[in-house]
Amino acid sequence: MKDKKRDIRALSKEQLREFFVAEGDKSFRGTQVYEWLWSKGAHSFEDMTNISKQTRQMLDDNFVINHIKVDHMQRSSDGTIKNAVKLHDGFTVESVLIPTFSRTTACVSSQVGCSLDCKFCATAKLKRMRNLNPDEIYDQVVAIDNESRLYNNMPLSNIVFMGMGEPLMNYKNVLKSIAMITSTEGLGMSPKRITVSTSGVPKMIKKLADDEVKFNLAVSLHAAIDEVRTQIMPFNANFPLKDLADSLAYWYEKTNRRVTYEYLIWEGINDQQKDIDALVDFCKIIPCKVNIIEYNPIDDGEFQQASSSVTDRYQHQLEKNGITVTVRRSRGKDIDAACGQLANKSAE
Ligand code: SAH
Repeated sequence: MKDKKRDIRALSKEQLREFFVAEGDKSFRGTQVYEWLWSKGAHSFEDMTNISKQTRQMLDDNFVINHIKVDHMQRSSDGTIKNAVKLHDGFTVESVLIPTFSRTTACVSSQVGCSLDCKFCATAKLKRMRNLNPDEIYDQVVAIDNESRLYNNMPLSNIVFMGMGEPLMNYKNVLKSIAMITSTEGLGMSPKRITVSTSGVPKMIKKLADDEVKFNLAVSLHAAIDEVRTQIMPFNANFPLKDLADSLAYWYEKTNRRVTYEYLIWEGINDQQKDIDALVDFCKIIPCKVNIIEYNPIDDGEFQQASSSVTDRYQHQLEKNGITVTVRRSRGKDIDAACGQLANKSAE
């Protein structure tokens, strides 16, 4: 038994309750242990003081509690914090705390590395090693919430799944983590404050709609012309824009909620009038908002941020067509914590 201990937080409350019944105990014991594991954040069975010593020993014989460990924390001059988080099997992922005057946002990872190959993203250079478990995603949020309270005197207000990995390729675990984050047994956060960002996996966007999720959806678009998008996001060859558009129409029909498109603009790639026209057309498919993000250079210098006059042109023409646009400045660049810069450099 000792060599095959299970991760106790992989069990649902119901499964824990059933485990105790099978052990000849009361199902209520399962609820008590569940509360220790989630709302009270116990790191060991020893901590569970209202559980008998004998039961705690039995749990210890059967299970482990795999908490993440913040291995290394960096603070940027703008208040951004980046955590290098060590997982129980030695892998590292990163998560970021982004404070502004009105909110504090946690940016969390969903996979170790990434299986996609976006040419402009540092994480893409790391092979996808494995999916994160629900508790490993949840723990990143708890760690950032604690740091936010400690350094900024305020609790976390928002969460974005924009760290390492493609959340919709770890669908089940991402949804389970959000269920815990929003549950009153976990952090009790409103799903309206959570955004899942995807490179655009049409089948899974439809599944989100079918599952009637209540959180927000963002799509990393970056180009609304197939040839351009395939050049910078090669998986687009398998998930062309037409399929993406269909899945977004389906999403809107089912949820009635608009989507945010993230968009980077590079010199010589998507800085022409035809790129703007294509984006304007794409934005007419369903109600949406466009977030123009600043490009954060990754080492090889292949991509260059387009000039601000191009950004202005994009902004002007989107607005002229009644589309909401925000132009976002990056945070935490000095510690490689900005979008697309997460590549476990801090752990080296
Ligand atoms: N895989 C998901 C989530 C991770 S990427 C997705 O693609 O949405 C989070 C955001 O950062 C995406 O919009 C992504 O396109 C953007 N991004 C990636 N590399 C970047 C870089 N070097 N500079 C700025 N943003 C980048």
